[in-house]
Amino acid sequence: MLSYKELGLVNTRAMFAAAVKGGYAIPAFNFNTMEQMQAIVMAAVETKSPVIMQVSKGARNYANATILRYMAQGAVEYAKELGCAYPEIVLHLDHGDSFEICKECIDMGFSSVMIDGSSLPYEENIALTRKVVEYAHKHDVTVEAELGVLAGVEDDVVSEVSHYTKPEEVIDFATRTGCDSLAISIGTSHGAYKFKPEQCTRDPKTGKLVPPPLAFDILYEIEKKLPGFPIVLHGSSSVPQEEVDIINTYGGNLPDAIGIPEEQLRKAAKSAVCKINIDSDSRLAMTSAIRKHLAENPGHFDPRQYLKPARDNMKKMYIHKIVNVLGSNNKLLKQ
Ligand SMILES: [Zn+2]
Repeated sequence: MLSYKELGLVNTRAMFAAAVKGGYAIPAFNFNTMEQMQAIVMAAVETKSPVIMQVSKGARNYANATILRYMAQGAVEYAKELGCAYPEIVLHLDHGDSFEICKECIDMGFSSVMIDGSSLPYEENIALTRKVVEYAHKHDVTVEAELGVLAGVEDDVVSEVSHYTKPEEVIDFATRTGCDSLAISIGTSHGAYKFKPEQCTRDPKTGKLVPPPLAFDILYEIEKKLPGFPIVLHGSSSVPQEEVDIINTYGGNLPDAIGIPEEQLRKAAKSAVCKINIDSDSRLAMTSAIRKHLAENPGHFDPRQYLKPARDNMKKMYIHKIVNVLGSNNKLLKQ
């Protein structure tokens, strides 16, 4: 048993309380590689932002959970080296699907876990979440739970249809599980194809798809039922069209990739939404930079030659999200 506190990581409690009160949201960026981790840390340090680094099942399969845990420890030390005296970095398990995986992560130094029982019947979701909360809280680890189902594909999390969170369930669910934050479904979706073209309208000028708006009425109803309770949005990449265009220009094929417009996320960040998950945008930023670099430099074969611009592009994207969308810059609790 290793406590995250020994690694210099923090749980989400204080940063979520401050974010809900302050009308901003904490960025939750997924990471699988060293370059992503470096870009996240550089962006968080430069903007003086708290940050959640999260690990999905796909990341654990790709990079190994132990390695990712050591990378998070390295992230704390790297942030200090970059001049941040008191970094606020959370190592979070994204979409834990069993008590065992949550326990394993807590025991190896994660400071926050998500137990995703959203595909289970309501009472089973409560029982599983409650069990994880009891174990996690013994170790001062915070727990995110989920009510409602998001559409889309994220690693192993696949759902054809979305079911919006039912506001009438949230008080009972939060009270009986004791969870620290709640992921809800209000129209965001996993992956780089968040909406089918038939769900969208088309901009007559550009021919680009315009997605339907998020269900803010549901969000505000939930907020009314659970005042001040931290709410989480998954699947909140914006799928920047300039990155998609670069990918498609340099040999890629991502027709009609579409995300959540940033003005919708900006509006959500001002509410009780205090954690916004962004994964696909990092993948797109990395891939567009690599495709462009290799197309323009056919003689390059040293991975550092194309991974450096990829890292720079991800860092630029992370800073943009922190400063222009979530508003978590200059929000470290201890300067
Ligand atoms: Zn998710």
